[in-house]
Amino acid sequence: RAKQRGGNTYQYFQAEMHHQAMQRLSMESALRKALNGNELHLNYQPQVDASTGRVVGVEALARWNHPDLGPISPGEFIPLAEDTGLIGPLGKWVLAEACRQAHHWLSVTESRFYMSVNLSVGQFDRNHLLEDVQEILRDSGLPAENLVLEITESLVMDDPEHHIPLLRELKSLGLQLALDDFGTGYSSMSYLRQLPIDILKLDRQFVRNVAGSDEEAAIARATITMADELGLHVVAEGVETAEQLRWLRQQNCHLVQGFFFSRPLEGADFEDLIRLPQAKLNEHWPEY
Ligand code: C2E
Ligand code: MG
Ligand code: MG
Ligand code: MG
Repeated sequence: RAKQRGGNTYQYFQAEMHHQAMQRLSMESALRKALNGNELHLNYQPQVDASTGRVVGVEALARWNHPDLGPISPGEFIPLAEDTGLIGPLGKWVLAEACRQAHHWLSVTESRFYMSVNLSVGQFDRNHLLEDVQEILRDSGLPAENLVLEITESLVMDDPEHHIPLLRELKSLGLQLALDDFGTGYSSMSYLRQLPIDILKLDRQFVRNVAGSDEEAAIARATITMADELGLHVVAEGVETAEQLRWLRQQNCHLVQGFFFSRPLEGADFEDLIRLPQAKLNEHWPEY
């Protein structure tokens, strides 16, 4: 009996693995199709200077609307794109679309902000990243100083000998670099010093509990102090409450991104926001 049950279990696993493999294959081809059709678009989440209410930057976030399955989260399709090599063309599309859109907004509004775009390690493995960025900046007309590329600690640590020099070359184009999800990786302070970054994004895991947990508050406070001493700007991610904002301000961290100010927006809605005169925009922001 046990043997039989073992056999069934084995068959069950076989079937399950087969099912998963098939599903993956079909998701892969669906993503390939999405990339060639127009199922992908970008949302835009403002980064706000909480001391003035100004929009200082905006992060482009990829969205996939599958015709039958509906919206699929980037937490699902970005790793799929990374595993299948589709991240090359996908990442290039995101960068081009974000730069095109930013250039348009900067030319039709008085608002001055940077466009922040996430990069994956898969885009670093190809040799074309520098050329792609150069070409996209040229074609879009976006000044390099209005572009921020977001990288992660794990991307750098994946191959520091190759990635750090490439980061320096990217920076020499005149753009800025942000270290995303800071605190979730395992980079040491000495590495941080070697990275040619301008902005540090404090991961929302440390922002979540700043008002409640002494430990998380200590990590957040130490990060803000260290960044300040290294001459980096800090953007706090995932700010959802007035209480978190108040705490961050007390630590002199004024650049914030999160649902408290705004969820990621459709392009047209973001444009409405930046078309507002500053006084109106400040009225629009939640009270704090
Ligand atoms: P990320 O780069 O850290 O982006 C911030 C994520 O936090 C976004 O999730 C955003 O919607 C979410 N978020 C913002 N404010 C809040 C808040 O107050 N509370 C909470 N709970 N969440 C907040 P999203 O859009 O689902 O993206 C998830 C991740 O997928 C991104 O994390 C990024 O790593 C990746 N991703 C998204 N678009 C792209 C892309 O175009 N290229 C690459 N390589 N990765 C992307
Ligand atoms: Mg990001
Ligand atoms: Mg992040
Ligand atoms: Mg994150």
